[in-house]
Amino acid sequence: MREHSLDLPTPEKWGEGLLSIPEGEILELEVRLESVHEGILVSGTVDTTATGVCGRCLIDIDEPVEVEFQELFAYPGMEASDFDVQDDHVDLENLVRDAIVLSLPFQPVCQPDCPGLDPNTGERLTKSTDDTEQTPVDTRWAALQQYTPDDGDALRAAPKTEKS
Ligand SMILES: [Zn+2]
Repeated sequence: MREHSLDLPTPEKWGEGLLSIPEGEILELEVRLESVHEGILVSGTVDTTATGVCGRCLIDIDEPVEVEFQELFAYPGMEASDFDVQDDHVDLENLVRDAIVLSLPFQPVCQPDCPGLDPNTGERLTKSTDDTEQTPVDTRWAALQQYTPDDGDALRAAPKTEKS
């Protein structure tokens, strides 16, 4: 049994969705190779960073990706397998790429409650107070807006501060 830690760049862009791994992004691999009767059992984890855009508001985002993988690389002629040991080597590229690409979300978001884009202006909505200020007030309650709980206290407090 052998264990390897490898840092390798992606040979090309991986993934076609809103999030992908850019070409040259570093893949941090922890790989364990175990000799079994039929071949070599490969297992491990890969850490990298996916970049792309939020599916709702289209802002640029990046997201950490960590996936596990495991596959038996069969010795040639042993049994039908998607992966073979070739010239005493195992080629992990397809295995790692598929594990990563399948883990990428179809609808990535910049934050779980991303409000998205304004349907009228196309501007990115934010959680600022603008939203609440623009909310129309029910006219039956509008008159109450001039009364706030602090008004009375403020009027009583004001003369005192002037005298002192
Ligand atoms: Zn967003």
